[in-house]
Amino acid sequence: MAKPEITRREFIKGIAAGAVSVATLGVLQGCEYSLQDSKAKPALGGGAASAIVPPEAVSGLTFTPGTYEASAKGIGGDVKVTMTFDEKSITDVQIDVSSETPDVGGKIGDQMASAILQAQSADVDGVTGATVTSDAIKTAAADCISQASGTTVQLTEKEPEVSDWLGTAPEIAESDITETLDTEVLVVGCGTGGWIATMTAAEEGAKVIVVEKNEGPTAVREDIGAINSRLQLEEYQTNPDLAIDKMEALQELVRYGSGYVDSDLIKVWIDNSGELVDWLTDLMEGTGKWKMFLENSTGAGHGRDKAYATGHSPHLFPEVEPESDRAAATGAALNETFTQFCEEAPGDVSFRFSTAMVKLEQDANGKVTGIIAQDRNDEHYIRINASKGVIMSSGGYSTNTQMMLALQPMTMDMKVTYSKRGSFGDGSGIKAMLWAGAAMDPTHAGMMFNRCCCLPTETAGYKTQGEYFWFGEQPFLKVNLNGKRFCNESGPYEFMLHSMVMQPNHTYCTIFDANNRKYAEQFEEVGCCRLFPFPNGALSNRSYDAVWANNEDRIKEGYIIKADTLEELAEGLNIPVDNFVAAVNRYNELCYKGVDEDYGKEPHRMTPVDTAPFYGVRTAAWQLTTLDGCRINTDMQVIREDGTPIEGLWATGDCSGGFFANNYPNLFTGLACGRTMTFGRRAAKIVAHL
Ligand SMILES: Cc1cc2nc3c(=O)[nH]c(=O)nc-3n(C[C@H](O)[C@H](O)[C@H](O)COP(=O)(O)OP(=O)(O)OC[C@H]3O[C@@H](n4cnc5c(N)ncnc54)[C@H](O)[C@@H]3O)c2cc1C
Repeated sequence: MAKPEITRREFIKGIAAGAVSVATLGVLQGCEYSLQDSKAKPALGGGAASAIVPPEAVSGLTFTPGTYEASAKGIGGDVKVTMTFDEKSITDVQIDVSSETPDVGGKIGDQMASAILQAQSADVDGVTGATVTSDAIKTAAADCISQASGTTVQLTEKEPEVSDWLGTAPEIAESDITETLDTEVLVVGCGTGGWIATMTAAEEGAKVIVVEKNEGPTAVREDIGAINSRLQLEEYQTNPDLAIDKMEALQELVRYGSGYVDSDLIKVWIDNSGELVDWLTDLMEGTGKWKMFLENSTGAGHGRDKAYATGHSPHLFPEVEPESDRAAATGAALNETFTQFCEEAPGDVSFRFSTAMVKLEQDANGKVTGIIAQDRNDEHYIRINASKGVIMSSGGYSTNTQMMLALQPMTMDMKVTYSKRGSFGDGSGIKAMLWAGAAMDPTHAGMMFNRCCCLPTETAGYKTQGEYFWFGEQPFLKVNLNGKRFCNESGPYEFMLHSMVMQPNHTYCTIFDANNRKYAEQFEEVGCCRLFPFPNGALSNRSYDAVWANNEDRIKEGYIIKADTLEELAEGLNIPVDNFVAAVNRYNELCYKGVDEDYGKEPHRMTPVDTAPFYGVRTAAWQLTTLDGCRINTDMQVIREDGTPIEGLWATGDCSGGFFANNYPNLFTGLACGRTMTFGRRAAKIVAHL
């Protein structure tokens, strides 16, 4: 049924993005571009107008003229598509993505509207890094076409072609490069590594340009891993058990990586991370607004896997961040403090936001001389020359579905799609370094939390739209979809998920009971799994109360099943009742004995499931980022396969490699952030002094 025509003005009110009509299409026609690769897209306005796409493109359908609307679930809420048809074609597409993450799905409305109008079809390529919003738009567009045609139009499921994930560097005509900038140090990406590299280079007096593809910086993460900071050395005076033996740490990290790591790089973190944290502590506490805390616990005794008190977390002080979203509040305040530091530093820093690096530039000898970037607002290209060097800190590739399927297919089975607070890494930095001759890690590694969930009718996997479930990390009883317990539930985040992959339909259920608060405290978790303050008062990332409030929402939405009996719980979770009841009875028997004779879990984490109400939820992975990248040497120079450095090119963080393989050893709290910052600082010191 045709919906009543609404005026464009009415519709645009309150819309964050996206409207393209046939009348405005001319500027895009004649520009062959792929939505997967917006880098190759000529500047808007540069394309020649040509004939409007023939209506036959809509597979010979005819329409009842009018305007139709449809919605589909995106990341933040419903994405709304409004399409106008004449008898033979789509004449206007308007997309409301105001519910989506502003810098991700919230930006793709125009792009997708153009693509649908140009293709005269809902079956268009999605935008890399915003696949959930893209899919929602396509689903809603297919619905509009179905309404207008009276025929059910279905989208064909397209798997990205994984074998050519690397592609080749885009050719950009000199005439399209309409701006040139010169600097000494060029930092690509303003996130955890980029901030530290920028501040250090500025402190050393260098002229710095930072390019960041988003509209603003990505806040540094706030669990920072180090060894022998001042705070740690002080703590060891009263708490000698927390002292970390450097050689033991090295052996552990090599073991976690099964040897696919560079021991010398790990030693750079071990030997320099203390200085990094001391510098940050002075810088932040010097403002009078912050206090740096050491997370001074390794849990109650050690189980299979030993924990190390490496985590440092800055908190606003004496003012405290709101409990409801501590990470967001801390992040915003950190960005402010760091911006002020750059303004006051002896060097000269310019930030270029909404500017994406497209490729590196090299001279005849292969030395990197700068980059070509693209302004994401007006799409003009910029050449940025860096006389001292380029420091890549562009993050990993977790939002690039094609790269993920090619390099980490098993991660794609573990994770559900949930990207409200994930990394922005789309692999563009890694690809640019590979095009310039860099070598990449031989194995791949994700950073995954078992802190998402899916409905009892769903299984884990990237095609499932998941929900936030921070409680998932707690080492309660877990059973597979046959209702059976299958491993020691306590250990690094990813061990549980890797064990899950070995189970039917790579999905498991987390089971807890009415006493879960008491047990969560008794677990004495470390790092960001902890839900209660540390012994010295350092706050946990999230408190039990905040996390339980999220659980209440999940119960209402049908993700968490709450039941009065174990039988009812098993039915709600769609798992075999008899197996499940037998598994719980056996588990309770071991809990009462205080010994896990089946899988060896620590006694203080053997907590029975015997008091109603009972709770259960299908749990899956939330992927934060990827941790494998281009190989670097101990000066953070990017290296080729033969180990020689690419002159002019340095890297830190998730786009760099040699440090992690297969998993993230989170029992060294804050290791990812700590290595990124330590390496960013070291690279900047070296480059600034060239
Ligand atoms: C929600 C969350 C919480 C985390 N918490 C912790 C923690 O507490 N402790 C810990 O150790 N680790 C944590 N991690 C992991 C940690 O943040 C990373 O491992 C790493 O330290 C990130 O640093 P980075 O500089 O490499 O990347 P990022 O911080 O992701 O920054 C990369 C930046 O580059 C930009 N960029 C990408 N491509 C381009 C391009 N082509 N042009 C211009 N800009 C570009 C991105 O937009 C982004 O701003 C967390 C990760 C997430 C997602």
